[in-house]
Amino acid sequence: MKLDQLSLPTFEPGWVWLAGAGPGDPGLLTLHALNALQQADVLVYDALVGDDILKLVSENCLLEYAGKRGGRPSPKQPDISNRLVQLAREGKKVLRLKGGDPLVFGRGGEEALTLVEAGIPFRIIPGISAGVGGLAYAGIPSTHRDTNHAVTFLTGHSASGNVPDSIDWPSLAKGSPVIVIYMALKHLPMIQQRLLDGGRSKDEPVAIIRNATLDDQEVLETTLGACAEDVAKSGIKPPAMIVIGEVVRLRAALDWVGALSGRILTADPLGTRNQDLAV
Ligand code: SAH
Repeated sequence: MKLDQLSLPTFEPGWVWLAGAGPGDPGLLTLHALNALQQADVLVYDALVGDDILKLVSENCLLEYAGKRGGRPSPKQPDISNRLVQLAREGKKVLRLKGGDPLVFGRGGEEALTLVEAGIPFRIIPGISAGVGGLAYAGIPSTHRDTNHAVTFLTGHSASGNVPDSIDWPSLAKGSPVIVIYMALKHLPMIQQRLLDGGRSKDEPVAIIRNATLDDQEVLETTLGACAEDVAKSGIKPPAMIVIGEVVRLRAALDWVGALSGRILTADPLGTRNQDLAV
């Protein structure tokens, strides 16, 4: 079957499609996102959407930037939402494209609520979130039967710019074997302290993944006890994901990106495979 036989939806004038672009690698766009890029009249995009993806728009599409860059003040969230309403009312096919998934720490819900209030028809196109796809490119599963049956995704940064107060850190430390944190670099020392205070071991493995899925992806492996210091020493900058938990050990076996450039993978990083075979 050819792609054009999939009967992907037609973008109607006056509609807003709120889409995720995935974590960076253009190959991780969904077919719906690609279909949207090819039909949009105007693309309102965020800082995390890369140039290779922007180039997929049709020739006549206008590009409007709505994110932080080069220290310029970022547009306020209500301004962006109102701009989407305005463009839709002008009869444009408006594509609002965000990094990762629009509804995962992406304020997509807020923008969609404004569209509903204004009576603008819309579609939501999910994307691969950095907390899942970014980890996969570092060779770290978010769940694995031998290490965790639960995972918690959290943001290290609330609207006020601080570590979110609404997180019950002692419960999180006790209850979530794997913790995946977006926007965590700035407050890593505080997050580290709260998890250690909550009883997590300082030897627990931690990975920091910068520019996940892109050619310049960097992964720093450390421990909960050393992570803040190691990050400060390495000079690693956002955007980065932080993964805390035993699942990080699987990277020794599953770092397929590293293997592409010669890393030798370890077959049994948890020492559990032979037991499995014996069962
Ligand atoms: N909606 C996005 C998250 C937006 S919040 C999603 O679903 O992925 C922005 C944060 O996402 C960044 O600070 C960083 O923590 C994370 N992030 C997004 N893309 C990333 C990438 N390619 N590599 C590492 N972290 C990324």
